Amino acid sequence: MSEPRIGVYVCHCGTNISAKVDVADVVAFAEGLPGVALAQESKYSCSDPGQKQIADDIAAAGLDRVVVAACSPRMHEGTFQRCINSAGLNPYFLAMTNIREQVAWVHQDGSVATQKAKDLVAAAVQRVRLHAPLYPRKVAVTTAALVVGGGVAGIQTALDVADAGYQVYLVEREATIGGRMAQLNKTFPTLDCST
Ligand SMILES: Cc1cc2nc3c(=O)[nH]c(=O)nc-3n(C[C@H](O)[C@H](O)[C@H](O)COP(=O)(O)OP(=O)(O)OC[C@H]3O[C@@H](n4cnc5c(N)ncnc54)[C@H](O)[C@@H]3O)c2cc1C
Repeated sequence: MSEPRIGVYVCHCGTNISAKVDVADVVAFAEGLPGVALAQESKYSCSDPGQKQIADDIAAAGLDRVVVAACSPRMHEGTFQRCINSAGLNPYFLAMTNIREQVAWVHQDGSVATQKAKDLVAAAVQRVRLHAPLYPRKVAVTTAALVVGGGVAGIQTALDVADAGYQVYLVEREATIGGRMAQLNKTFPTLDCST
């Protein structure tokens, strides 16, 4: 396997990250990691100019993997997957690492935060080196649901799924449905009969 050419982008997120993390220091550290062809700071990686920079670098520097050290992947993993995909890379040749919520927002000490950001970037670089391309595919599924347990939760789930138009199979191990609730007489807070 030939050595990958990884681009690392360390985001300031305005001052969200750079108020605690020494971004320039993390970039300098990333430049020395194996497989890293380019490391850069970015004021807002998720912005249009930030994404354009990544796409341009993929073309100009021949990058074939990308690490973005920024916010939570839950926030922007899709953004960067689409970005690198538009530049011709498989979207799964991306590793995002969270140096905002998991570093800048939870550490008081800047040197501790910067060291942790370096550790996370090093881990992301190692991980993305091992990534393989993935491709979406469609498979046929059975449009029916199995609900295990006929307590109130299972009964309501079965009704909701059935109301949505799907066949439901409700399985209960006891002789009757109702679960705990069926064993109670009056229930808090309305004192209604539970059955
Ligand atoms: C003493 C007591 C008093 C309570 N008082 C109140 C009250 O006043 N007001 C109130 O709102 N709540 C009250 N609760 C809480 C309420 O009863 C429960 O929150 C509610 O019944 C939970 O419903 P459930 O469907 O999640 O679970 P359960 O009622 O426990 O139902 C689970 C069902 O799954 C079945 N099951 C489990 N494993 C399997 C399996 N592998 N295969 C097939 N079936 C399986 C069980 O047999 C059971 O029927 C009380 C609970 C207790 C114990």
